[in-house]
Amino acid sequence: MPIHTPPRILMGPGPSPVSPQVIQAMSAPVLGHLDPDFVSIMDEIQSHLRKIFQTENEFTVLVAGTGMSGMEAAIVNLLDRKSIIEENTRTLVCVNGYFSGRMVDIARRAGADVIAIEKPWGSAFAPDDIAKALEHYKNISVVTIVHAETSTGVLQPMEGIAKIVHDAGALLVMDCVLSLGGVEVAVDKWGVDAAYSGSQKCLASPPGLAPLTLSARAMEKIRRRKAPVQSSYFDALELEKFWLGTKRSYHTAAAAPLYYALLEGLRRVHDEGLPARFARHRRHGGAMRAGLESLGFRFIAESNNAVPHLIAALLPVGANDFILRNDILKDFNTEVGGGLGEFSGKAWRIGAMGEGADRDRVLPLLDAIETVFIENNIAVAPGQARSAAEQFYEQHKD
Ligand SMILES: *Cc1c(COP(=O)(O)O)cnc(C)c1O
Repeated sequence: MPIHTPPRILMGPGPSPVSPQVIQAMSAPVLGHLDPDFVSIMDEIQSHLRKIFQTENEFTVLVAGTGMSGMEAAIVNLLDRKSIIEENTRTLVCVNGYFSGRMVDIARRAGADVIAIEKPWGSAFAPDDIAKALEHYKNISVVTIVHAETSTGVLQPMEGIAKIVHDAGALLVMDCVLSLGGVEVAVDKWGVDAAYSGSQKCLASPPGLAPLTLSARAMEKIRRRKAPVQSSYFDALELEKFWLGTKRSYHTAAAAPLYYALLEGLRRVHDEGLPARFARHRRHGGAMRAGLESLGFRFIAESNNAVPHLIAALLPVGANDFILRNDILKDFNTEVGGGLGEFSGKAWRIGAMGEGADRDRVLPLLDAIETVFIENNIAVAPGQARSAAEQFYEQHKD
């Protein structure tokens, strides 16, 4: 008996919808991870990733695991551990949402002396916030920040941050799991030393792989470490032997079908072109936002710092999170995400990302939300969400 799964439409914070071509790619025969033909697939993946990360970094690879494995890999390679005391330095984590909170946890478990500076969920950091923290706490060797925070929909402006971090002698780690492939991520221009993402959001592939890129400065620090990186699996010097150079050596096997799927996804990013892809995410995310606003949702992120393609929005008063989301799943086969942390039960996270950034995904979802609202006695006028979105489309023809 084949496994039965319902034909869900994934409009939450990830995974995002996967195209039939990407699914098809996974059925190619499995190759060994050192097979020369497999190595060319790895090379092609790397060259696509460098373009999407907008970097010349030689170390641009995949970590085997979801986005969180990228987070863990970036952090454990760069942090200094309290117990080892190579140098008495600390890790500064900028916390303004759920995923930055996870960074604190990962760094602490890995033995770092962690300082967390906090901003209310829904706001972004200013370069000055980081400058003040570096000045106040001293001895910081790593600073981490989330570019697009999925729990709040906040897009963190990155200009000016790396200079402050580097002037203080530290390295900058950036989470771009939600942003890569949907909105500009300019690793070299922004001076980021470690950036990681995930295959399942704007790269429109199944979950299970995490792109990771490390700057020359980051690699130099890793090479100079007196004690090895705490995780063998994520050690950049081990990953390097598998991913770079003319003679590749075994570190772990590769999940070949996932590599094929991601490569197909990356080729589609390449064919579309980054500027067109970003514009598409802005346009359909914007239409979704207009429709949601007309239904009484209120956005958590300020409009000047909002992720275009992921909307975290507070439900209208009287709307029951669980019942409504369940109705959308059951009656419309569509998944939207619930709120995280302080927004649990109060907000939804709706994505128009990857294949989901499409008029034929946005309008039916708005209709579906409107229908379940009406069925649950929430006062909205039939057709208003669609018409607000259509009006947005009219005004944004780019
Ligand atoms: C989704 C996400 C992650 C985690 O990715 P998983 O694939 O769930 O492990 C990390 N950071 C951000 C900003 C995300 O949106």
